[in-house]
Amino acid sequence: RVNRRDFMNALEEVHPAFGVSEEELLQVIQNGIIHFNPIVDEILRSGQLFVEQVRTSTRTPLVSVLLHGPAGSGKTALGASIAQASQFPFIKLISPDSMVGFSESQKVTAINKIFADSYKSPLSVIVVDNLERLLEWTPIGPRFSNAVLQTLLVLIARRPPKGRRLLVIATSSLRPVLTETGLSEVFDSELRVPPISNLVSLEYVLQEVELFSSSHERRDAIRMLEDAGFASTEGDEASGRLHIGIKKLLSMIEMARQEPDNVAQRLTGALMGLGM
Ligand code: ATP
Ligand code: MG
Repeated sequence: RVNRRDFMNALEEVHPAFGVSEEELLQVIQNGIIHFNPIVDEILRSGQLFVEQVRTSTRTPLVSVLLHGPAGSGKTALGASIAQASQFPFIKLISPDSMVGFSESQKVTAINKIFADSYKSPLSVIVVDNLERLLEWTPIGPRFSNAVLQTLLVLIARRPPKGRRLLVIATSSLRPVLTETGLSEVFDSELRVPPISNLVSLEYVLQEVELFSSSHERRDAIRMLEDAGFASTEGDEASGRLHIGIKKLLSMIEMARQEPDNVAQRLTGALMGLGM
């Protein structure tokens, strides 16, 4: 059993790690979460339920969930938000970005260390970001790091020691690779993170980021896209589908902001260029 003193001691013990990861996490969620689709809330809500499950259930000291979806759909930000909201004493992001230039064995060591550190805390969340890049997956061959794969297979499925509880949130934009490598089988649950696929969602984002100075201009831009044949809503089967990740959309919006002339035309041009 873990009593309050153990818990407080553990908090002390792991605090430095938390400080560092908090910065990392805040960085990936600095642009915030825009609720452009009810699914966004559903994902966050499911994440919250997994957090509660880990916190309260004695039967499930380990819960692992995979967030998958197209490139730029917001997987890292959602995973980090769920982790951040847990307020668990140990929260850590394992990201390929922090392992640039690492050899295979250095990666394995780093991943092992983060899991080992998490076992010192009564409650932990580890975000394993971008599985296919961690695995150094290359479709040609196909090639990948078997050492990293074996490490992840073991660690994501391993129950933490007695009295310790762990939530693992992983992300991937290449779901089929996980099936091929057997990684998908280790997860308890999967959540799909969708791209922005209709004009109602797009307009919501445009309003949220205040790209246009008036709702009038914003409506005009949306009308241009309607005329170009894009679907307004999810159920509109006759029209073409918009298909863009929130990450790319936000960066297009920031570019458009740099040159305020003809914002609507340039934005719609860029979205149409992405094809239907
Ligand atoms: P990649 O496939 O390149 O790994 P990704 O799917 O992990 O990309 P993120 O890196 O999470 O995407 O980028 C999403 C960006 O959009 C972040 O800057 C985030 O703050 C912002 N954002 C705004 N609204 C949302 C949302 N509803 N869901 C996720 N991210 C959002
Ligand atoms: Mg990502």
